[in-house]
Amino acid sequence: ANGNGVAARPKFVVNSPNVVYADGEIRSTYTYRTTEVSEGEDGTRIVTPKETVYDFKLDTKVPKLGVMLVGWGGNNGSTVTAGIIANRRGLSWQTRDGLQKANYYGSVVMGSTLKLGTDAKTGQDVNIPFHDILPMVHPNDFVIGGWDISGLNLAEAMDRAKVLEPTLKDQVRKEMEAMVPLPSIYYPDFIAANQEDRADNLIPGSKACWEHVEQIRKDIREFKAANNLDKVIVQWTANTERFAEIIPGVNDTADNLLNAIKNGHEEVSPSTVFAVASILEGAPFINGSPQNTFVPGAIELAEREGAFIGGDDFKSGQTKMKSALVDFLINAGIKLTAISSYNHLGNNDGKNLSSQKQFRSKEISKSNVVDDMVAANSVLYAPGEHPDHIVVIKYVPAVGDSKRALDEYYGEIFLGGHQTISITNVCEDSLLASPLIIDLVVIAELMTRLQWRLHSNEAQGAKGYKSFHSVLSVLSYMLKAPLTPPGTPVVNALAKQRAALANIFRACIGLEPESDMTLEHKLF
Ligand code: NAD
Repeated sequence: ANGNGVAARPKFVVNSPNVVYADGEIRSTYTYRTTEVSEGEDGTRIVTPKETVYDFKLDTKVPKLGVMLVGWGGNNGSTVTAGIIANRRGLSWQTRDGLQKANYYGSVVMGSTLKLGTDAKTGQDVNIPFHDILPMVHPNDFVIGGWDISGLNLAEAMDRAKVLEPTLKDQVRKEMEAMVPLPSIYYPDFIAANQEDRADNLIPGSKACWEHVEQIRKDIREFKAANNLDKVIVQWTANTERFAEIIPGVNDTADNLLNAIKNGHEEVSPSTVFAVASILEGAPFINGSPQNTFVPGAIELAEREGAFIGGDDFKSGQTKMKSALVDFLINAGIKLTAISSYNHLGNNDGKNLSSQKQFRSKEISKSNVVDDMVAANSVLYAPGEHPDHIVVIKYVPAVGDSKRALDEYYGEIFLGGHQTISITNVCEDSLLASPLIIDLVVIAELMTRLQWRLHSNEAQGAKGYKSFHSVLSVLSYMLKAPLTPPGTPVVNALAKQRAALANIFRACIGLEPESDMTLEHKLF
């Protein structure tokens, strides 16, 4: 009964006094164990185990969900739309390799499993689809819509993208022809000049103004009403914009940002206008591109409105590899001294990134991804020491959506020896990004139904519960430059990001984090 606003039947029940299933909710009491380190007067470190007891409460009613993509007519937008239709209808199509069936490969939620526990009889691991750990929206049930500055319908957009096989396109064409992006806002200064020729589907006005916020809010409301939706999530998968300058008095606080939009300030980007409109409309907003959409004023606004935001920049190919490999190398005690990353691609994203200011946004988001891993190892790296790290992106139209990433990892091993690892990664960019769009939506939606309180506030009853922080850092696994609540650390390491996701979900059903100690197999 997914997507119909009806409570889905859980796939398992947790047998624990700390977990209650009632009134369309799962309620758990969970002891969070951490370790506090402080320094004694003589400089000795004092390490103290800490316990905080939380209550979690999850609304198990899976809503009818709308997904509105900004940049719907792009490679990602058209590919994810076709992919969801193909899955929903259970399509298969001929390719030169044989019959291909629709699948959700590359989606953590739809394509991976989680260890639930060990089998009572055999002692073997019991793994379940990630999607089954808590009641989640199924992507087949998404109602998709959105905006694009290009007015092509989604069938034409899919042809322009040159990503999918003709035998698949033929089967989804009719449905996609009827999908036409809403007009969008276009401030030419923010994306590359080479995008101008596709900008033919525009809301009038070439800089931020309050009418733009109102129009986008109206679009969200109308989409919700027309499709009888319980909730809408908005995601930016439009072109990479240049960074917006952070100017005191303009975008540094929520009120300044709102005023800057009202006064038509030139430094407010389209993506920030979409974020502000979504926040004010209470629709979670996720930024899949690298630019600084979430200027400090936008973050403050989200906090003030209790709205959810997440970003930045899909972590699909090269960076995903990097955040796994660097974690492994440094944790293996190998001193990585240089990462040289080179990409070329020929899709419209590559064309836009061939412009310096837009490339700069990508360069920044790609460059900071090893910082936490380097900073964590004071044996290998002195304070402030950092491996050399360069990122190059070139536009080669002929290769289309097939992105090539060449990376060289250079490091120091035992007694002055060296190790060089070269990786060539070739893949259709949009086929990697589309499942991430899905995961971000499914998880962000779930987070809107999850609440917590300190167990010690139990006496306050339902009133004691609060939402998670507006900035959904739990989405980090899917994002290259994860946005975190102001002042909190960024975690880039891929395995840690996945563990956070899995273990928070386990906590909601009163289960301990998966520790991988497997003492049951070691102590007899
Ligand atoms: P694309 O150029 O094919 O699609 C972007 C679409 O956005 C275009 O159709 C364009 O017309 C539209 N657009 C531009 N400005 C707009 C605006 N103001 N309002 C509405 N629509 C607007 O690019 P893509 O390959 O689909 O990638 C989309 C974004 O995702 C890019 O910023 C890219 O850097 C980012 N990204 C992609 C990947 C990946 O594909 N693997 C990974 C990380 C990040």
